[in-house]
Parts: sequence; structure tokens; C-alpha cells
Amino acid sequence: MGNVMTAKRMVGELERLGKNGEDFIVLGVDAPGFDELSHKQKVLAYYLYRAAIAGHTLIDQQNHRHAMEIRGLLESIYLNSEGMEPRVKGAVHDYLKYVWINHGPYDHDSHVKTPPNYLTYEMLRQAAEFAQARGAQLKSAAGETLESELERLRPTIFDPGFEPVMTNQNKGDDIIATSSVNLYDRQLTQKDIAALPAVWQQRLNVRFGFENGKAVPQLYKIGGLYGDDLDTIRHFMTLALPYAESETQRRGIQSLIDYYGTGDEAKFRQYSIDWLRSDTIIDYLNGFIESYLDPRGVIGQFEGNVSFVSDSTLIGRLADNALYFENRMPWPDAYKLEKINRPVANVVNVIVETGDSGPASPAAYNLPNYNDLRRDYGSKNIILLNIEEARSDRIREATISEFYLAEYRDLVRKYGDRARQWEVYMHEVIGHGSGKPAASLKVDPAVAIGRAYSSLEECRADLVALFHAQDPKLAEIGAFRQEEQPDIVRAMYISYLQGQMNRYRMYEDDYVREAHQRGQQLVLGFLLEGGEAGNQDYGVRVIRQDGNFFVQLADFGKARSGIGALLTRLQTIKSRGDAAAATRIFDRFGTRVNPEWRANIRARAARLKLPNKSAFVFPRLEPVMAENEITDVRLHVDEDLTAQQLRMSRLRFNKKVPE
Ligand SMILES: [Zn+2]
Repeated sequence: MGNVMTAKRMVGELERLGKNGEDFIVLGVDAPGFDELSHKQKVLAYYLYRAAIAGHTLIDQQNHRHAMEIRGLLESIYLNSEGMEPRVKGAVHDYLKYVWINHGPYDHDSHVKTPPNYLTYEMLRQAAEFAQARGAQLKSAAGETLESELERLRPTIFDPGFEPVMTNQNKGDDIIATSSVNLYDRQLTQKDIAALPAVWQQRLNVRFGFENGKAVPQLYKIGGLYGDDLDTIRHFMTLALPYAESETQRRGIQSLIDYYGTGDEAKFRQYSIDWLRSDTIIDYLNGFIESYLDPRGVIGQFEGNVSFVSDSTLIGRLADNALYFENRMPWPDAYKLEKINRPVANVVNVIVETGDSGPASPAAYNLPNYNDLRRDYGSKNIILLNIEEARSDRIREATISEFYLAEYRDLVRKYGDRARQWEVYMHEVIGHGSGKPAASLKVDPAVAIGRAYSSLEECRADLVALFHAQDPKLAEIGAFRQEEQPDIVRAMYISYLQGQMNRYRMYEDDYVREAHQRGQQLVLGFLLEGGEAGNQDYGVRVIRQDGNFFVQLADFGKARSGIGALLTRLQTIKSRGDAAAATRIFDRFGTRVNPEWRANIRARAARLKLPNKSAFVFPRLEPVMAENEITDVRLHVDEDLTAQQLRMSRLRFNKKVPE
């Protein structure tokens, strides 16, 4: 226990990573309101928090077959680095931070290998030998010397051309054979997976090994793959059970415990139902949820979190009106829901996020992902307020004045935040939950569409937000004042389109890989090029001014008609499960960027030294004990990225309370 009174509050910008600090800004987040929770809620939050931390490195294990070994090696070196040459220690530490944020040697979003900035192979060897001489237990495989271990890891860490992409979804490639993600043994091909029974091909919690010339499923369960990690999660879930806020929430936790015990995905579906129906103050995620790591878009990647409700008045009113917006969707009535289970929608502060959702965090999520459950039970939408609001004002201003045409700058300064907030609300609350499959479609659209599905679904939810942003209902429910609405909507459109172009600064080549970004690129490309026929004017241009490229929203009305046309197209593709059409439209508009624009954006970003992405450091919970009972839980914001990640690694199999 540190001296809390004198500890520095680690909130806001904590550090920058990368040459000139351009790769990441690390932001510390607070969770205001925690102290006002009841004793029971705090204890529940604490056990769920430990369950989230227990699963933290599961996604490292899924990332690459060497990812955990690299993390462990670097942590051991770092922990035994006292007296090491500062240049070498600094280089190890720098790379370790990337491994923590990305959960392995590949970029979390682009899935491309990220070799160290400063660390060389010689430095790594020197550092490892130094640490070993200081007594570090560098756990190599049985019978392996340190030297041969380092040689074995060498190409994975240092050679960008060796297994360059973790998740490859490019058309024409064997997406299994060319992806280095550790969801498949390296010898496997698409043909091997296609030869499996359909139930295995659609399974969420599985890895595939290669034995006797064929694919062999390995289930994630206690006693199976990742058994010890899952057993630690189960331990804390079991402790959380008596503190559940409602019977539904309790049932959900119990289903999750059963799921980890058996590997039976039906239990996870049951958990998903109870989870989406429980509208409690303390909420959490724990499981293999999103499917971005899997080139097929099926297998789930681990994430855990805990949050508590902050203020949900406005978003609740949006949820009350979900059917109003559904009735006004531009697509055919056959694909509209006739009734909607009112989506649960909450604005929360997160206490911790692990695995897929931390240190890199989404601003919001909408779950479950099972389309039949969404149809039958609805969905839950969570906006992460303390994540959404964490930022550097200096960077925001620099971005606006560099990348936006002068005519939009004040608009974005004034309304950009609120536009973004409502874009996220609508994306989650009335976007993902909307629409229904054609009566003739017999499988889940996600299964029918395959690799383009994640991008299609993210894009569709964005388009719903853009399409409805000018609806008078929003002013009526108090989202914004009526006279401000036209400006807010314009700010939303220009920041959406220019914002995607600004992301080009992150792209090492001309490809867009991340699902949300493919969606945004599709919108930008579709509007610029006048739709699939290429003969429409959707009022959006890229213009050149003083040698720089900018997005211009020349005609808002035309842009909105383009948004409606694309939204109708994507819903039709989804409802029919039309994989070929999905692939075609993304390959044409959502996958490649203009090289000249990209070079220009990157040069301007480099001049400004803008960080490309954010990583977060979360609060630390400390249970106050009296005779083995938790009498209170205190929340501290006193860690930097390094302290937090080292602690989470230490807690992987730790079942003690307090830690
Ligand atoms: Zn989404």
C-alpha cells in the first residue's frame, strides 16, 4: 500500500511513445462517482475487476504463438535492469510498452508487425544476459539456452517481413495460411477449416491445432486451453455472485462460470441474454467477444471490464425512441423490425478494461454480437464517458487548425464534441440494433457474409447515425437546441469525413485494415466517387489548397442522400447475407486509400508531432479488510502504464484478496 496522500494523481497525459511521441499518447483516467456507490456495489465491482485482470493476457496468447513469451522475457529483463546501461534499458522498456498496449508484436488495430523503435537484437541479448546474471528467471523451453531462445524469437520481434500480418483478409489470399494469429496452427489452410463440421466452423471459443494432417479443435475451458487463466476468472466470479444487484445479473454471472467450466457456448449465449437484460449500476464484460483477430471473423478475442452508470438520462430517451427511428430507416420495410425491445443504454465510467479493450479502449460498445439474440432480446449499449472525455486539448486544437478547411474550423471547435457524442450514441443505440434479416435467410448474417461482416456492421451503424442526425426528434428529447441542430449535423458530417482522411497518418501502406476504419473509408469513398454506378453527385469533394488536401462538404443535402443510398445498400446486403456484394463494395471503396493524399496527411502529422492513438491507464482498486471481510473499496489513480501492466501480469493466477 503506497502513501495515498502524497501520491501524484495520474490523470490526463502521462507519456508519449514513438519517435517524436507520434505513436501513442498514454492517458490516465479517473472514475468519478465510485466513492458514492454502496458497499455492496463496491465489493461486486472489486471481484469483477479481479476477474477482468485475471484474463488480461488471454488475448496475448491468442495474438501470436510467441507473444506471451516475449512479454514475459521483457518483463523479467525490465524487473532486473538496475544498473543496466540506460540506453539499453530504455530501448527494452520502450518496446515493452508497445507489447503491453498491443498485447503482442502486432499493432492492435492494423494487425501489422510493429518492430521495436530503438531495441536491436544485440541490445536485447546484452539486456537478457545482464538480467540473467542478476538472477532473472528467464523461462525458456526445456533444454533451451537463452541464446537459442533469443534466436528463435528474433524474426518475430525484429523482422517486419517475417509473418508480417497477424490477420490478413485480403481477397485472393488463403486468409488462414497467411495470417500469423495464434488462433490456428501455422500449417493450417482455409481448406482444412472448411473441411470441419459447420458447428466447429462457427464456434466462438476455440483454437485450431494441426494434427495428422487436419484441423483439430481445442476448446477454451477450465481443464482445456487457457484453463488456468479461466479458473482464476471463475474464482473471482464465484466471489462476486452473492453481491449481484439483481437476479438477472446473478444468473448471468452463474452462466459465465458454467461456460468457463464446460466450454459450452450455449452457456455464453445464456449469459449474453441475462447480461443484456440486466440494467444495473455495476456492469461488466468478461469473455471472448469481438472477432477482429480472426481472419474469418468468427473466433472471439478476450476482453474484460467493469463500469458503473454515470448519467443515462439523454441516452435513455434515445433508447425510448428506437422504434420511431426504425420506422424512418431508408431501407425496404421487409428489413425493418416491427417491434423493438427497448435497448438498454447507459453512459458509464469504466474502472478497468483488459485484453481486447485495454490499454487500447473503444469509446462505446453494443452487444451481444449474436444476431438472433439481438432480434429476439434486443441489445445493450454502453458509452464509456471517462474514456470519451479523456484527451489532450492541445492536440485537438492542432488537429482542427491543420486538417480542416478554414470554413469548418469554428464549427468543429464549437460543436465537434457534441456531434461526436451523439454520433456515438446513435451508432450504438439505434444503429447496431436496427434492421432484420430477410425471411429467406436461414443463417446468421455474420456467418453468411464472413470476412466483410465486421466492417459492414460498423459502417451500417455509423450511417444510421449520420442519416438520422437531422431528425427533429433529437431536439425534442433534449439532445441539442433546435436552432443549433443544423450546425451540429454539419459538424458531424465534416468531422466524420475529414476524420477518416486524418487517419491516413497511421497507415504504413495504402490499405485500411481495421473494421471501423474500413467502414469510414467506405463512406468517404462512396460519397466521393458518386456511388457504385459512379454517376451520382453526393456533394463531397477532396480539394487541394496550398499543396494540402482537404475534404469539402459542398452540398449537405446531396451528401445526406448519398448516406441514405449507402445505408439502404448495406442493409440489403446484410439482410440477404450477400457475401459477394459485401466483398465487392468494400474492395472497391473501403480498403484502399489514395497514396498522394496519404503522403500529404502523414507529412503534415509528422510536422505537428501528433500522436496517432491513445492508450489508457485505469484506476486501481484497493480493498479495505477487517477480519477477512472487505469493509470498503478505495479507488486510486496512482499508476503509470508500466506499474499497471506489471501489476496485471503479477495478478494473472493470483487468487488472494487483497492482492
Ligand atoms: Zn459499433
